[in-house]
Amino acid sequence: MTGLIKRYTALLCAVLIAVSMSGCQNIQGPGTGSTSDAGGSAQTAVEAQTGETGQGPASVTGNGGDDNGDDLHTGEGIVGVDAATWVDSDVQQFVRLVDRPRLEDDFHLAVNMDWMLETELPAGYPSFDPITERSIEVDGQIADILKNPEKETDPALIHDQELVQKYYKMWMDWDTRNELGIEPLKERLEPLMNVQTLDELTAYLSRPETAISATELLQCDVSMDWNNADYYAVYVLPVDLIFGDSMYYGMMSEDDAMSEPYYDEVIRHILVDLGYSDEEATGVLKRCFAFEQDIAEYIMTTEEQSARDAVVKENNPRTMEQLEAEAGDFPIRQMLAAYGADGSDTYILTEPEWLAAMDVLYDEDYVQNLRDYLICYTAQDYATLLDRSTYDVYYEVINGISGAQGTKSDEKSAADAVNTFLPMQMGRLYADRYVTDETKKEVSDLTDEIIDAYRDMLKEESFLSEETRRSAVTKLDNLQKRIAKPDKWEDDSGLTFKGGEEGGNLLSAQDQVGAYWVERMRSRVNQKVDRDIWTSRIQQVNAFYDPSQNTITLCGGILGGSLYDASMSREELFASVGDTVAHEISHAFDTTGAQFDEKGNLRNWWTEEDQKAFAQRADKLVAYFDNIEPFQDVNCVGSQIEGEAIADLVAMKILLRLAAREPGFDYDKFFRSFSETWKTITTIQTEYYTLSQDTHPLAYLRVNAMVQQFDEFYDTYGIRKGDGMYLAPDQRLEVW
Ligand SMILES: [Zn+2]
Repeated sequence: MTGLIKRYTALLCAVLIAVSMSGCQNIQGPGTGSTSDAGGSAQTAVEAQTGETGQGPASVTGNGGDDNGDDLHTGEGIVGVDAATWVDSDVQQFVRLVDRPRLEDDFHLAVNMDWMLETELPAGYPSFDPITERSIEVDGQIADILKNPEKETDPALIHDQELVQKYYKMWMDWDTRNELGIEPLKERLEPLMNVQTLDELTAYLSRPETAISATELLQCDVSMDWNNADYYAVYVLPVDLIFGDSMYYGMMSEDDAMSEPYYDEVIRHILVDLGYSDEEATGVLKRCFAFEQDIAEYIMTTEEQSARDAVVKENNPRTMEQLEAEAGDFPIRQMLAAYGADGSDTYILTEPEWLAAMDVLYDEDYVQNLRDYLICYTAQDYATLLDRSTYDVYYEVINGISGAQGTKSDEKSAADAVNTFLPMQMGRLYADRYVTDETKKEVSDLTDEIIDAYRDMLKEESFLSEETRRSAVTKLDNLQKRIAKPDKWEDDSGLTFKGGEEGGNLLSAQDQVGAYWVERMRSRVNQKVDRDIWTSRIQQVNAFYDPSQNTITLCGGILGGSLYDASMSREELFASVGDTVAHEISHAFDTTGAQFDEKGNLRNWWTEEDQKAFAQRADKLVAYFDNIEPFQDVNCVGSQIEGEAIADLVAMKILLRLAAREPGFDYDKFFRSFSETWKTITTIQTEYYTLSQDTHPLAYLRVNAMVQQFDEFYDTYGIRKGDGMYLAPDQRLEVW
């Protein structure tokens, strides 16, 4: 029974991932196709994502912790560790089942319990925490930009204003959307629906309009070359799968897939609208699944993508001739030509096994499976841009999967849609109205303080040789800061599309804007990288480290609300934005980031001995997390969250170094503020998804697992052996 539940929940969360990744994926705009997306595992975000259904909390059901110790996978060097028995307090239902703990036993829950019991999930959200709270605030600001546009005088802002207004009006115009119904999508998919032969499929995939507007049998991105960071390279990546993680396809039968609501309700609904009978739609869905299952075997799983050696495995430079030789019958040159990316000096093929498999599958006998995958994937990609009935079916299914209740208002959803569709235009308007130069300066100064503390730490690091230490400091010294908003924006004055009054609709706008971004991508092929240009949407409530450029980005969106305020005390400042900055810098030195040099080249700057010592320290961290069991019989996967956990751990170390320099620093205030930053309530479904798919540790572990590694925490609260927060000194973690 447990196995069945586990398998079912795995399927559910797969859909959730697919959903979180879907939406206009063919529009290769800035911020959607950044460097790190190319590698899958390269870019890292501070925020935890959403997540799935389990069977109950390990500790609450009394089956966690020591009882299961023998069954747990324990890594080298930490065998015999007592597994932590904290309840997974991110899940509100679990919190309701337990008594209030002492903070010596469960710090995260003790600090946040009242909030966790009193807070309700907002409509349409499967989880809520300070980051989500701030996101809702930013969404409100964006909605206000749309509802109450200011009279702009700067020509770039006037242009941005026109575009966002045009799209906003079309999105909100349900009468026209309902009248158009499926027609815009049908027009787009008809050439594909008529494909019967391999030659016809090749002709369809070779059209520039296919590259712009529909799902392809490969993904193409132009971003910083891992082997020559000053120049762009073309990345060739496998197809996306509807259930996200390729791992699920090995566990799924055709019947499983056919009964999944995302297939059976969302995609079927659109297929029937497109004119297929119910029986025909079943055939299309089955053939789509057949292709996904066949190809999934040759696509890396989420776990493989987050492994330490993933970037090295993904770094396969090729010439066009080499690509063609490996692709065999699969028309790779024609497809890349459709993107305008066939003239690149360098391609990075991230998954050679996938390409070899496409050679075999690209066959006359298999053409219907390939075609029907493309139909289904494209159809679901546009589900939120069609008529009301499709929109409602989509959100009903998504809520069923995530456990969220209710839906966001149309105004908010429209603001989301504009924000996704015109990210840089909205970003420029947002920066103009809400991001001040003072904030940029203050956070920039704090970042410099943190970099200084980092330099001191590297200089004192006892396990490093002088040679490796010098390279590490050079890398830190070359780190580029991107705080709040850029000084220089790209010129987008040529971007335009037809609004409703000019005969346009949401899908035709996608085509026009998509063509513009493909042209932008094409103009970068073989060109030098301009490091002053930011590719992130600065209105995001997020922060990143990009190893391929050695940059940290703190988006303007994250610098407000309860996350940042100029009047914060030093303790509060360190616990919130200070932690974010230190976390992002730490990614330069996590097990993936540390493989890139000061410019962003994938180049080993470690001595063999130092690398070994570093890996052993990271192994201990992996084993520590492998030992923690948030859901009954379901443990953390240490290797999946390794990079993020290292970043969390080193961030805390750096913050405590900064604290030591502050006269009269209030450690109790700092640790409590830190714990409050990670207070979360979420549904069981979403927590299970985060546990199985997210590269970040669960929120309660981002507090408890981190603070218990440091003397300052023990000293502040008098933690002793026998307390739930106690970890024996020889078992404590230290990666840096
Ligand atoms: Zn991170």
